[in-house]
Amino acid sequence: MINVAVCGCAGRMGSTVVNAVTAADDMQVVCGIDPYGEMGEFPVYKSIEEALEAGGFDVLVDFTAPAVVAENLRKALPTGVDCVVGTTGMSNETLEELAALAPEGTCLFVAPNFTTGAVLMMQFAKAAAPYFPEAEVFEYHHCNKKDAPSGTAIRTAQMIAEARGFESAAPGAETEIEGCAGARGALVEGVPVHSARSMGFVANQEVIFGSLGQTLSIKHESWDRESYMPGVLLGIRSVGERSGLVVGLENFMD
Ligand code: NAD
Repeated sequence: MINVAVCGCAGRMGSTVVNAVTAADDMQVVCGIDPYGEMGEFPVYKSIEEALEAGGFDVLVDFTAPAVVAENLRKALPTGVDCVVGTTGMSNETLEELAALAPEGTCLFVAPNFTTGAVLMMQFAKAAAPYFPEAEVFEYHHCNKKDAPSGTAIRTAQMIAEARGFESAAPGAETEIEGCAGARGALVEGVPVHSARSMGFVANQEVIFGSLGQTLSIKHESWDRESYMPGVLLGIRSVGERSGLVVGLENFMD
């Protein structure tokens, strides 16, 4: 039985993780951590320090907020707890610095997106990137999302940039008319990323590639937070066998 602590257990993602872990046969929630959480089937601590002091968990799952996740990990990793992190917004440098705090045999697993469809979308985008001189990423999320662009969009742009090895020649920010800064999107490693926020969306993304006379669109739509749960459970089951920093669910998908 894998003992799991869920950080952010009162949130949209955290509460879905609590339900998914509870429904699985090979793991259980031993505690939650959330300043707005309430005691129920398991204790809920107001801070990571209180949870670490109580102990009793092998894996910490974090779905909190970009402003607090690094601090949570800074406290948890040195104790040797494997961490499965969905909270977005941390740079690669921060992740490497945090992973270095963990003793040998401890894993920091971070997935910008836990849906299998989004992982495949990124892999398809990587495969297409060398063949198209232009690429733009369009992401659509609910309006309570705290970071823009999304972690998935940033990761997709990075993968496109690495795979193609050239800069797009499409017109950029210099063509934006006065008073409309940002119309051409944010440049992430040379790839324009456009972020839409609206009620109605959970998390969608489309990557559009262009070359002479043709475009290729790769689109992923996630309409329910349940779509993330198989990936989160796979992460919880897999971290015990890995050590150090692992970024991306693709590392655990056959
Ligand atoms: P949310 O605002 O609904 O929930 C966050 C929860 O964290 C809240 O209940 C809040 O009280 C709690 N919290 C705040 N500070 C805390 C702390 N110091 N310790 C413990 N808990 C704390 O947010 P959400 O929609 O559930 O999203 C959470 C994060 O997950 C966001 O960064 C979001 O972008 C990310 N996310 C990632 C994926 C993925 O596949 N990787 C998917 C969806 C969302």
